[in-house]
Amino acid sequence: MFRRVSRLLLSFVMLMTGAVIGVGATAGAAHADSCYTWNRTLSEGSSGSDVTQLQIRVAGWVTSGERLSYDGQYGARTTAAVKKFQAAYGLGADGVAGPATFSKIYALQDADCTPVHFTYAELNKCNSDWSGGAVSAATAKSNALKTMWKLEAMRHALGDVPLTISSGFRSRACNSAVGGSSTSRHLYGDAADLTGSPSFCRLAQQARTHGFSEILGPGYPDHNDHTHVALDPSPYWSAPNCGI
Ligand SMILES: [Zn+2]
Repeated sequence: MFRRVSRLLLSFVMLMTGAVIGVGATAGAAHADSCYTWNRTLSEGSSGSDVTQLQIRVAGWVTSGERLSYDGQYGARTTAAVKKFQAAYGLGADGVAGPATFSKIYALQDADCTPVHFTYAELNKCNSDWSGGAVSAATAKSNALKTMWKLEAMRHALGDVPLTISSGFRSRACNSAVGGSSTSRHLYGDAADLTGSPSFCRLAQQARTHGFSEILGPGYPDHNDHTHVALDPSPYWSAPNCGI
C-alpha cells in the first residue's frame, strides 16, 4: 500500500514538473519577440523609444479625425488609444500597457514587425527597395509600416474582414505609369488603395476612425473603383457618394 502511494506521488511530482516546464517554455516564447520586445510597463507620463514603438501599434485606435503622434510621449491620447486597443481585443481597458497588452501585440506582429494580416510586399508592388519616391527608401518603408498597423486596426474593427490593397508605395516612375498625381501620397509610402470588399463607401467611412487623414473614395474624381487612405499632413477627406 505504502509503495503504491509513493509511486503515485512520484508520478504526480513528475507530472507537475513537466507541467511547470511546459508553462515556463510557453511564457518565455511569448516574451521573446523577434520583432520588438517591451521590457517595462508603460503608462501615462512614460517616455522613450518603447513608447514610440507602442504608438505605432495603437495609432489605428483613435477617434474620428484624430491622428496619434509618434513622439514617444505617453500622454492622454496614447492612453485613450491603448484603451481602445485593449477593448477591441477583449483585454481590461485601463490604458496601461502591461504584459497582457504586449502579449496581444506580439501575437499580432510578424518577425519583420508588420501586422500579421499585411506584408511589405502588399504595400509595395512597384519595386523591391522602396527607392525613387518623394522621400528616402527608409522613410517610405517606415511610413508603410505605420499605415499597415492602421489597416490592421480597421480590419479588426470591420469584423476581421480581409482587406485587399491594389496599390501602395510608388516611385515617381511607377506613379507616372498609372497616371497618379505628382503630389500623391503613394510617393511617400503611407497611401493604400483598397479594393474588393467590404464596399468602397464602407471602407471610406470606417477609415475615419483609424488615423487616416486623407481618404478619397466614390464620387471623388478617379476614385469610383477603390478607396484611397493615407496620412497626409494636410487632412482631406472626400467621398461624396458616401456622405464624406
Ligand atoms: Zn491612391
